[in-house]
Amino acid sequence: MIMSRRTVIAGAGAAVTALGAPSLAGAATPAAGRQSPGVYRYTVGNVEVTALIDGVARRQVTADFVRNAPLEEVKGALRDAFIDPNLLPITYTLLAVNTGSRLIVIDTGTGGRTAPTAGQALENLAAAGIDARAVDTVLISHFHADHIGGVRLKDGSLAFPNAEVVVPEAEWAFWMDDAQMSRAPEAMRGAFQTVRDVFQPMAKDVRRFKGATEPVPGITAIPTPGHTPGHTSFRITSGSDQLIVWSDVTNHPALFVRNPGWHVMFDMDPTEAETQRKRMQDMVATDRLRVAGFHFPFPAVGHIAQRNAREFAFVPDVWNPAL
Ligand SMILES: [Zn+2]
Repeated sequence: MIMSRRTVIAGAGAAVTALGAPSLAGAATPAAGRQSPGVYRYTVGNVEVTALIDGVARRQVTADFVRNAPLEEVKGALRDAFIDPNLLPITYTLLAVNTGSRLIVIDTGTGGRTAPTAGQALENLAAAGIDARAVDTVLISHFHADHIGGVRLKDGSLAFPNAEVVVPEAEWAFWMDDAQMSRAPEAMRGAFQTVRDVFQPMAKDVRRFKGATEPVPGITAIPTPGHTPGHTSFRITSGSDQLIVWSDVTNHPALFVRNPGWHVMFDMDPTEAETQRKRMQDMVATDRLRVAGFHFPFPAVGHIAQRNAREFAFVPDVWNPAL
């Protein structure tokens, strides 16, 4: 269509009405001012995985962030990865896993309970064309707020109203124990309270699994304690393909895949977490397994390459436009 002077003026008038105030910039397309939906889909054999970003927390990099490495070395590793050495973006990526017979969400994101820049999981689930009511299982890796907060909406109702919630027994035993809560340092009380807010009202309906079992058909649990007492990774298997869902075995890969001996401040038993991290890292590097990491940069899936005896690197998957 060739625009006449009349239609241009009418169009400009509509823009003024829509935006509320006339502006010289009205002729240009306004900036979106926000990110587009954070959704990425991939397959594991016949299983369809949808990665959903819940958001990001930008964290000041202080001396206590990595407990056993000098701050300058930590900042050096961030500079090497072209990340602001003072402000580390820690993203949250959960998975919706469609096995054909079941629709499982693994971890739930923050539920908007932590950073104001997080809490986008349900919006992204909808953008991915998945109805939260169709989710039949919510599988949890561990009880930190960024993994369980999204079990409920802010008003307390269930985000996945038809889903059975399935959790590691060792997490339940630790976090639901009032004696542990009263012994915990003041800084950890909030974490215990969040666990109670999320799980207490549905305690009798939560299914708990123990050890290296198969909590959901096609998904096996790999106990990886240390980050928390019952921290669990998962292996999704379909045909000859598999995906390791390793939750928080490592936090940001630029720091902790590269240096598996470094202890992030969130690890509750840093020595055990390091042992598990090195074991898992050796396994996925040797067997060339694909790994999804909850705090890896979106879409939070790729491989871990071992460069030499001491050096590992995360190699992210490249965006695949066709399944
Ligand atoms: Zn986490």
